[in-house]
Amino acid sequence: MKIHEYQARALLAEYGIPVPPGKVARTPEEARSIASEIGSQVVVKAQVLVGGRGKAGGVKLANSPAEAESRAREILALTIKELPVEKVLVAKSVEIKKEYYLSVTLDRARKRVVLIGSASGGVDIEELAVVDPGKIVIAEVDPLKGLTPGPAAEFSDRVFPTKRASEQGADALVKMYRLFVEKDCSLVEINPYAELPDGSLVAADAKINFDDNGVPMHPEIERLRNDEEYSRDEIEARTAGLSFVSLDGDVGCIVNGAGLAMATMDLIKLFGGSPANFLDVGGSSNPEKVLNALRIITGNRKIKAILINIFGGITRCDDIANGIVMARKKLDMRLPLVIRLVGTNEKEGRAILEREGLGAAERLSDAVKMVVARSKEGR
Ligand code: GDP
Ligand code: MN
Repeated sequence: MKIHEYQARALLAEYGIPVPPGKVARTPEEARSIASEIGSQVVVKAQVLVGGRGKAGGVKLANSPAEAESRAREILALTIKELPVEKVLVAKSVEIKKEYYLSVTLDRARKRVVLIGSASGGVDIEELAVVDPGKIVIAEVDPLKGLTPGPAAEFSDRVFPTKRASEQGADALVKMYRLFVEKDCSLVEINPYAELPDGSLVAADAKINFDDNGVPMHPEIERLRNDEEYSRDEIEARTAGLSFVSLDGDVGCIVNGAGLAMATMDLIKLFGGSPANFLDVGGSSNPEKVLNALRIITGNRKIKAILINIFGGITRCDDIANGIVMARKKLDMRLPLVIRLVGTNEKEGRAILEREGLGAAERLSDAVKMVVARSKEGR
């Protein structure tokens, strides 16, 4: 899960990391009144859940409340990487002498949380990693000890050129790491970590991502969720308790089990089709879930054919069949539907489908070939 910069700044501040004061605005008038509260030069920043806002014209300085209002009006009219800007952060502008980069993130290959730092901050770190990887410092954190002041200072000395900056950086890193662990983050990033003329360092931009599996344990983080991160289908699926990811193809998939769902998508690709989604109805057996899954999929205009692939273990084929029958009564099911049904209570499930005039394939490859062909007829 992602959150906006203004939300990330508030979390950093809660953990004691210096952040310039600011507030979020939804209208140009609100931006103006926040700017007059701050009472000095401000920076008006698009709050969208993507990076590179600066380059896209989404970060602008303003010298007066009136100017803040006009800059906010311009930015609120922008669309950045297909996301319409609905909010702006109005923050006290700081004079930046030097821009650093600091982050705490998970390195899956090393199976460790790592610290990443650079004295060439401000810019896109992914780009820097390609053009000048020597400027990036990385260190693993001992998962049992956590990040203690000693290793933090050692790392910080490799990133910052002065003792004064290094001490502040080490302090910030210890706090960032604590935030990372306590709130189940996957990324805590400050870029730029800005050095001011008086030598103090502040977080001039912040990005925090969370491990989706950790969010349910933190209601205060759940409250930060922004629905614009998700498609309409994904929101409906979450409400229905389904594990769902939107993709851009035209074959709707309903599968039990995440591994089988991945394999099903691979096969659709292999046979020349394109999956419209990942959907795992889960191990539990519940006709309601199939109905909800079919409701979401039939509501998606770009889908041309539907594949239901069930390998029943805990999931019972008769429950799935009942869900399909229910859906055919309640929903507008004009799309071609291909079913593969094997496993627990298969015979009962097939009998239920047959009474409705529906058949089911046994072999997954047959079912996938069929659904890909049907999806092409509908194009
Ligand atoms: P991003 O492009 O989405 O990463 O947005 P940032 O918040 O990092 O802003 C991009 C750039 O705008 C930064 O690297 C800074 O150079 C500049 N910037 C951001 N905030 C301030 C500020 O308060 N004062 C000044 N002078 N520049 C700023
Ligand atoms: Mn940035």
